[in-house]
Amino acid sequence: MSRSWVESANKPETDFPLTNLALGAFSAEGRGRRLGARIGDMVADLHCMAESGLLDSLDGRVRDALAGESLNAFLECGSEGWHSARALLLSLFSGATSILRDHKHCSSVMMPQWGLSMRLPCEVGDYTDFYASLNHATNVGSMFRPTNPLLPNWKHLPVGYHGRASSLIPTGTPVRRPQGQTSATDEGPPSFGPVRLLDFELEVGAIIGTGNQLGTPIDVNRAWSHIYGMVIVNDWSARDVQKWEYQPLGPFNAKNFATTVSPWVVSMEALEPYTEPALPRPEGDPQPLPYLQCGRDRAVPINLEVAILSESMRQKGIAPHVLCRTNFREMYWSFAQMLAHHTSTGCNMRSGDLLASGTVSGSTKDSRGSMLELSWRGTEPISLPDGSERKFLQDGDEVIMRGYCQAAGLPRIGLGECRGVIQPCAG
Ligand code: MN
Repeated sequence: MSRSWVESANKPETDFPLTNLALGAFSAEGRGRRLGARIGDMVADLHCMAESGLLDSLDGRVRDALAGESLNAFLECGSEGWHSARALLLSLFSGATSILRDHKHCSSVMMPQWGLSMRLPCEVGDYTDFYASLNHATNVGSMFRPTNPLLPNWKHLPVGYHGRASSLIPTGTPVRRPQGQTSATDEGPPSFGPVRLLDFELEVGAIIGTGNQLGTPIDVNRAWSHIYGMVIVNDWSARDVQKWEYQPLGPFNAKNFATTVSPWVVSMEALEPYTEPALPRPEGDPQPLPYLQCGRDRAVPINLEVAILSESMRQKGIAPHVLCRTNFREMYWSFAQMLAHHTSTGCNMRSGDLLASGTVSGSTKDSRGSMLELSWRGTEPISLPDGSERKFLQDGDEVIMRGYCQAAGLPRIGLGECRGVIQPCAG
């Protein structure tokens, strides 16, 4: 496979080989807010590339979009624009060409990634969170409603709720333990105070590339082409708040205090060689209604893991402890189906909107994507290498999510990291 002149992009363990070229937004001392392309351990400043004339072969609209501060204008350019930018970056970073490597501005274009402060890759107008893993829905359902775990609608539509875009935060932003209204029993009375059952949810996010007009649904067979790329999402959740508030209208304050997004958007074009035909539905399950039947639906086999680093592990120099490993290919509903269902009413998507998959849980105990499931609602505490136990998250805990694809004959390609540390409640 093609090598890059950026040596760190050729290491087998990197998430960012030449073929990834994930895009993100950063700010850096002396540069302000910029867009960047990630390659190996380096980031190319796209504003600087545009200024240096290195993007002049692109359509002017695409070039100007890449010189901007966030990805929205680039997303609006559509698949031709995305493809042309990717093709140009591929050629400029390829080991076979030296135009950028030998360019007089190369040293100002290329920056080590560790010096950068990563921002949200785009301005997210609307954020929707789904509930598309059968294992997760069954696990959670059986805890909250033992006699009735999966509601009758679940296998007929991708369940979701409208999330809160204003509290999306980039990786590395601390998460303050919120206060909330909770009740020890289903009947009340409630009390108000620091949330006790604080949790993470391991999710994959789809960044909408091109939207649709209000009133015009997106056809399920065209839906994948509206998605620009993918990120990792941590949907921080307050389980004690959720339990008391979720009926009858679904999650509200349990979910609105913070949602962490990984900084590098890996395009569907980069992920395409790793995708697989969607898994068939389990024997005996209902077929989706025609508007949710995607002719050539696909599964994206992203290996996902969650690790935790407690305050005392950090002090003792102990490495993060992996809590869960799972794979995104096992989702019951695809992003194409989620997007088709979401817009089936004519609801419009806009460039930069975020759809999150819902917690990705596998069928085994060590593949569950939330503490709620891993500790089975606190009844099976998890032992950490510092000797402590966890039922839910404690102050000082850092949650680190990672994702990558692997396939024979192809380099590993990754989504990077999604991190956040819990800070004590302010109240
Ligand atoms: Mn969620």
